[in-house]
Amino acid sequence: MSELNVVSISAAKLPAGPFIARHLIDGDWRQSADGASFERVSPSHGSVVTLAARGGLRDVDAALFAARQAFDKGRWSRTSGKERATYLLKIADLIDRERDRIALMETLESGKPISQAKAEIEGAADLWRYAASLARTMHGESHNSLGEDILGLVLKEPAGVVAIITPWNFPFLIVSQKLPFALAAGCTAVVKPSEMTPATTVILGELLVEAGIPAGVVNIVLGYGDPVGAAMTADKRVEMVTFTGSTAVGKAIVKAASGTLKKVSLELGGKNPQVIFPDADMTSAVDAVVFGVYFNAGECCNSSSRIIVHEDIAEEFVARTVDLSRKVPFGDPLDPSTQVGAIITPEHQAKIHTHVRNAANSGASVRLGGGPLDVPGLNGQFYQPTVVCDVRSDMPIARDEVFGPVLSVLTFRTLEEAVDLVNGTDYGLSAGVWSENVHTCLEFARRARAGTVWTNTWMDGFAELPFGGMRESGQGRELGRYGLEEFLEAKTVTMRIGRTRTPWVA
Ligand code: NAD
Repeated sequence: MSELNVVSISAAKLPAGPFIARHLIDGDWRQSADGASFERVSPSHGSVVTLAARGGLRDVDAALFAARQAFDKGRWSRTSGKERATYLLKIADLIDRERDRIALMETLESGKPISQAKAEIEGAADLWRYAASLARTMHGESHNSLGEDILGLVLKEPAGVVAIITPWNFPFLIVSQKLPFALAAGCTAVVKPSEMTPATTVILGELLVEAGIPAGVVNIVLGYGDPVGAAMTADKRVEMVTFTGSTAVGKAIVKAASGTLKKVSLELGGKNPQVIFPDADMTSAVDAVVFGVYFNAGECCNSSSRIIVHEDIAEEFVARTVDLSRKVPFGDPLDPSTQVGAIITPEHQAKIHTHVRNAANSGASVRLGGGPLDVPGLNGQFYQPTVVCDVRSDMPIARDEVFGPVLSVLTFRTLEEAVDLVNGTDYGLSAGVWSENVHTCLEFARRARAGTVWTNTWMDGFAELPFGGMRESGQGRELGRYGLEEFLEAKTVTMRIGRTRTPWVA
């Protein structure tokens, strides 16, 4: 694959030893009650980068007890929005201060390029600042239309103890899409990061402690989905679960949470299409498709892993996409010029490859890539930029999340056909449309079953705008004022003015 742009061996040095990660429970850093631990091996360099406490049921119990106590004693929920905002702003400043340290651990554990890890940490700090603004401005309602002697109030109160469960692909960003909003609302929390990427959440914990967040308000338990995540989800002390991860685990969480009927908010997978009409600005669309499919090595809920291109321009579009794909710098994530790094685990690399092989065996044609990528000098796992054409909508590669740098190309003739293809999977996270005709864009935007529709752009995200999925891509929304609402309950208070009697029994 010499015609690809492979970046190998950065000058950057790996840390001398692994990052030591412990649980944060009731303000203390603790080993697991049973002393168990686990290692995280860097997906790009093959060495152990983190040694983490491996949580069990006793650790979950201690963390939930602390979060429950902190909530019930009002250590956080009874503070003012102004006070909570002051903490959140301080944490944002500390995140800025520690940006490079957090980004390095994010890269070492996840394999993503260091430049993108830094941008992610900056984006996360912005979310803590935005949540601070919500803490100060959140408000309920008052109703004076009920008559002169009665006042109706709708108070917004914190949902309670929240379980926050996060994935490995954007660990610091995703915890920052949840935790500051939960804290702004007045909730207390137990956080479980992915077992692949525990370090950056632990660093966040250090910053929370430094900022002076009261003990027990935020607790962190490290370890695996089973038993840690499962126990948090089922426990009656938790009143809400907010989860980002795979649709399969999302469904398991809904089942486990049903025993106590707790609130569940889910950000799950996607099979996100970009639809290219013949009048699109082709240069911009090709740029966006290449960015959309290879960003984070395709390990991104918003990966535009399907393009649906009008058949009149399909040949030229694919040729230009393949040409640009060859130029994308793949390789060592510690090199600042790299745009696409490593694949999270060898097992996941094998899964990506099986998808591509199965598609080829079913009649699809691999126009670029289609196999593991050898990066000289590195002992990790990488996958070539891959473009697969002649894909039919019934093939698994067109319907399932591949979660790798693999683009599937389908074609259409009419807007009707394009909409059917877009809406023809179980997912509904995001979709994109490229056309110079505003009517085409708007009609598409209205008809696509997706939580977000990008028109003549891809993956523009803002703290102010809600994000989430329809159908099997999830329930609930993050970010914007909707993101805060998820962590609030509405309480109705009615008040009679003057002395009232209820003359029901004489
Ligand atoms: P995953 O579902 O395997 O794991 C996510 C988290 O759930 C981890 O912390 C894991 O330990 C935990 N978990 C596993 N089993 C559990 C159980 N039974 N109960 C409770 N917790 C459990 O997902 P992943 O592989 O870490 O992440 C990739 C997935 O996340 C992809 O499907 C991707 O699309 C999705 N994702 C979605 C968004 C979004 O905003 N929609 C964002 C990022 C990632």
